[in-house]
Amino acid sequence: MTEVYAVDRDVRITLRRRGADTYTKASYPQQFGVFSEIETADAVLRFNLNHEIVSLRGKGRQWPHSQEWLKRTAGNDWIYYSTGGYTGVVEAIGEYYLPNTPYPTNSLLGGRPFLLPAVHKLTTGWYSLLQEVAKRATDAPADILDFLTQTLANDPEVLQKKAEALFAISGGRSTVLPPDCRHVDYDVIPLVVADGCLYKCRFCSVKTDRPFRDKSREGIDHQISKLQAWYGENISNYTSVFLGEHDALAASPGLIVKTIGKALAAFGFSSANMKVFLFGSVGSLLNAPEQLFVDLGRLPCHVYLNIGLESADQETLDLLGKPIKAAEVVAAFTRMLEINRRYANIEVTGNFIMDENLPDNHYPTFLALVREGLDRVRAKGCVYLSPLRVGQPSRSLVMDFHRLKILSRLPTFLYIIQRL
Ligand code: SF4
Repeated sequence: MTEVYAVDRDVRITLRRRGADTYTKASYPQQFGVFSEIETADAVLRFNLNHEIVSLRGKGRQWPHSQEWLKRTAGNDWIYYSTGGYTGVVEAIGEYYLPNTPYPTNSLLGGRPFLLPAVHKLTTGWYSLLQEVAKRATDAPADILDFLTQTLANDPEVLQKKAEALFAISGGRSTVLPPDCRHVDYDVIPLVVADGCLYKCRFCSVKTDRPFRDKSREGIDHQISKLQAWYGENISNYTSVFLGEHDALAASPGLIVKTIGKALAAFGFSSANMKVFLFGSVGSLLNAPEQLFVDLGRLPCHVYLNIGLESADQETLDLLGKPIKAAEVVAAFTRMLEINRRYANIEVTGNFIMDENLPDNHYPTFLALVREGLDRVRAKGCVYLSPLRVGQPSRSLVMDFHRLKILSRLPTFLYIIQRL
């Protein structure tokens, strides 16, 4: 039950506040799940059910915008959500708020909010603010004091160690999450069924050196029980799994289906909202047997499968160092459309790259698929355009994107690479 306690005129603590029941795309800030909150004259701090800070918002004139906030991810990154003036953000990324990461990524939009004094002060000073509140709340009821003691135990150093413990469960941090994870604001539990990927493309900045290999069933069971313990009580604020790593679709079909079934049961998600996200490649999509999709289609969850198509132009593929043929990319795109038609709860999406210096045929061959290749506009099966370069926002690329989006007959968005 929600409990509200006023420490004094300026500070209020709310325990077990209920946020949104489902992830919805809204043009106002929304917190999913159950959380506790401390509101002071200067800031709003929110904590998850494990008493770990998860959200920060400054107040007053120094804060950049009253509708902008910071979120701390399970991997212990602060992400700044900006409105981008609301104009163009939803068309570009499919979401109302633009995530600004503290690490270099391929985003074409956004400013540098982490350099703003108010943002810097809050990300580095939230713990002192919490200590200050605790000092003022010594007369509070026992459950408020207990809440403060537990939140104080999760200082920045402890939170960093916890994130490292999470990465260690599957053998390393998920360096990239599928773009479809935007549907749950990247709140996914990472469970790795297979290490590495098939191609080790030259252009790719997120690949690992690990050769592709299925994880053992025992190893996956071990990860599931470790993840249950790591997420603890706060697991009830999750609805989704990321099945890693970079080409989970290349794992053996039985392993994929069994692992999803086990994870959904172990994590206790509510069946109405369960989602599973995974990456696939051209090869793994073309090689996957129809029975895999029949089995995935029978699971009580929505499955989002994101395929790295990159380009339907051979010269571009060669330039990228992607060891596949353009004809295979075209075949994988056709298969993507077929699966999207056939299975209501599976959505296959595709990534294509963007850059100013690609061979002339890259965009015409892209449009041959997403425009000429379709007789009408379709609502299912997003394509994501992924800027090749990191840390180089470009107005002309944004204009190219909008031109391509208008011509595409599939939902088309920019891919901003985000890690766990
Ligand atoms: S683009 Fe995909 S397949 Fe290629 S190296 Fe990167 S993760 Fe592997």
